[in-house]
Amino acid sequence: MKNTISHKSIYFLTLSTFIPFIIMFMYSFISMDMRNKADFIETMSRFNENSARNAIERPIQEMELLLHSLLGQLTSKDIEDYISPSHSELNSIIPSIVNSTTFFDAVILSDKKGNYTIYPENQGTNFNVKERPWYPFSARKDEIRFSAPYKAIAKTSKYNNGMAVTASMNIFNDHSEFVGNIAFDLDLNKLSALIKYNHSPYHARFKVVSYDGNLIMYSNTKELFKRAIPQAWIDRATESEGHFFDEKTSAYVFYRVYDNPAWIAFSVVNEADFEAHSTSEKNLFLLVSLACLISYLIILFIIKLYFRQAITALYLNLNGITIDNEGDSIKKVSESLKDNSKRLEAAIHDAETDGLTNLFTRKKFDCDFHDIFVSKNPFYLAIIDIDNFKKVNDVFGHHTGDVVLTYISKAGSDFLTNIYRFGGEELVVIYKGGNYDDFYTLLELWRKRAEEKQWREEGLNVTFSCGISSYDEGSTPDEIFKKADIRLYQAKNSGKNCIIGLE
Ligand code: GH3
Ligand code: MG
Ligand code: MG
Repeated sequence: MKNTISHKSIYFLTLSTFIPFIIMFMYSFISMDMRNKADFIETMSRFNENSARNAIERPIQEMELLLHSLLGQLTSKDIEDYISPSHSELNSIIPSIVNSTTFFDAVILSDKKGNYTIYPENQGTNFNVKERPWYPFSARKDEIRFSAPYKAIAKTSKYNNGMAVTASMNIFNDHSEFVGNIAFDLDLNKLSALIKYNHSPYHARFKVVSYDGNLIMYSNTKELFKRAIPQAWIDRATESEGHFFDEKTSAYVFYRVYDNPAWIAFSVVNEADFEAHSTSEKNLFLLVSLACLISYLIILFIIKLYFRQAITALYLNLNGITIDNEGDSIKKVSESLKDNSKRLEAAIHDAETDGLTNLFTRKKFDCDFHDIFVSKNPFYLAIIDIDNFKKVNDVFGHHTGDVVLTYISKAGSDFLTNIYRFGGEELVVIYKGGNYDDFYTLLELWRKRAEEKQWREEGLNVTFSCGISSYDEGSTPDEIFKKADIRLYQAKNSGKNCIIGLE
């Protein structure tokens, strides 16, 4: 049937219900991915900023406060006294500063002539302070100057690879005259301890490097003053702070650049660490999506089961079948279908078979006649009408009339197959395919059988007349029928009990 929904379209419709699900899934997945990345960038930028504040800005602020409070009261006499063997107040202040602060390792105090004293003093070496790489010639008043990493002469204590970084400040008197210089070697081991994290986000590694790429602060102090940063990272750190992805090392790099000291704070996250972090979220999302999909399929399956049962119940109700046991339903439906099929066959048989004569009905003739005509296969048509049948009825009774009609029909069936009761005592024959002479002979045999029948009823003789026509492409079915009817009329007029065939 055309208007029934096919299996294919049901599958297509079912599949199309997945489209919104897939779109939602993809949208959520992509937005989750983007949010993950944005969260990562924000977290890491904040981490790098906080780490740089702790490791660089805060110690510098403390150094500035300390130096300003110290140098605010310092006179050239204090300096001279400290450098010369005579005792000054500074002899107790300076050691206490070095020992109480975490970030100073040693102090060199020098006067404007270049005389100096180192604390701790036993590590002193003779050198000209004004030739040291950290000595500031152009530094302004109140400005701490941080040196680049340089090769140390004084082996103060914990220098890594003989390298040092020094913070120094020129000293001026009340008349703004230059009177000397104070220089502190930074204890980078202790400063590095400030940035030792137990748990950094995304396993980030925080490093402070000088502009030339030497490691100034790092959790692993053995690495200090080694080159640990590709030059390309320093070249790409063009803003005051920012981030980029380095394809070469597959790492996300966050940076913050300082002028004085000329340092850059880097936080580095391996791509794999970022991926591992976001993969667990993605896996959770996929798991939840899969659970939703399975639930949806289960619901579809339940709906399918429900509909199947509802249709079965509807069918059973329509056919008046009651089910005692759920398991019997299929058996009962099958029995009911067989029963219906038998009833249908019987109804078709009844519609096609005449009750009295057992010949085919006029209805079936109409169908068969149309079909054979449409098929354009050759055929012959014969119309038979019992002669003086009214008289048979009148003289011998209706019952005898029926017996006669039944006998003639039965006799015809011995010779021919497609015989129809067209109406009353008028019969029609369709003769398919065979040749005309055969047909005529068979009709003649039938006519003779009727003529020669010896009836019990005295004086009863039964004959019939017949007219034949043949299929003709140029004629309509009505015209073919009409031709046979005309010949039957001719047979009646020529004294009945004869067949008028084709000319
Ligand atoms: P003709 O030779 O010209 O055919 O004469 P006829 O008497 O056979 O003609 P008509 O067609 O006038 O009469 C047919 C009669 O057949 C009329 C009707 O009462 C009778 N008849 C029709 N069907 C039946 C039937 O099923 N049983 C019986 N017993 N008679 C029937
Ligand atoms: Mg008649
Ligand atoms: Mg008749």
